[in-house]
Amino acid sequence: MPGSKLIVISAPSGSGKTTIVRESLKRHPEILFSVSATTRPKREFEVHGKDYFFITKEEFKRKIQNDELVEWEQLYGDYYGTLRSEVDRALRSGKSMLFDVDVNGALSIRAQYPKETVLIFIKPPSMEILTQRLMKRGTETLETIRTRLERVPMELEKENEFHFCVVNDDLQTATDEVDRIIHNVQKEKK
Ligand code: ADP
Ligand code: 5GP
Repeated sequence: MPGSKLIVISAPSGSGKTTIVRESLKRHPEILFSVSATTRPKREFEVHGKDYFFITKEEFKRKIQNDELVEWEQLYGDYYGTLRSEVDRALRSGKSMLFDVDVNGALSIRAQYPKETVLIFIKPPSMEILTQRLMKRGTETLETIRTRLERVPMELEKENEFHFCVVNDDLQTATDEVDRIIHNVQKEKK
């Protein structure tokens, strides 16, 4: 059976990563999506078990203790983590899997699965545009937008550790570029 590829997409919050991941999954129905666990509140259009597993802090801490997470991070006051059961689902099926995780989570997945992992960094065209996108999305308070922006310099510093970097200026162009990368990864896998 051909080996799974773990395609990890990371970006500063508001760069357009979720938008690009959703489109990539539509274009590649053969690829699985790793549903992370999080303690942050569900946004209006999100679905439990599809976008995230929304769990309490107590449940999350239990999962850490039971070694159910491949990696986890505390971000913006909440916990986010990749479930071992999700990675195993990909490895067992031989299918590739897309991950939407923060930069540290991405590097941690690569450290554990160096042969399988492909890292894609999505970059905003500028801090101004990033701020506008977060405001326009309307899911965050001004305070949480500020917290998300504070992390951006650290995130941009890690860009060089990624295999690919895609600037999300025009959405169609960025999505096509990610699509090309995924297409090539899938071709190599065969
Ligand atoms: P992330 O998952 O990286 O936090 P989202 O995918 O939620 O980011 O995108 C943040 C906001 O920016 C959303 O409202 C989305 O519709 C918008 N957006 C994404 N890409 C672009 C783009 N290229 N041009 C303009 N708006 C964009
Ligand atoms: P959001 O709250 O906007 O959905 O996500 C906030 C940040 O958490 C994003 O950078 C997203 O990629 C990251 N994230 C989501 N799931 C995981 C995960 O399982 N592990 C890590 N490390 N980060 C995650």
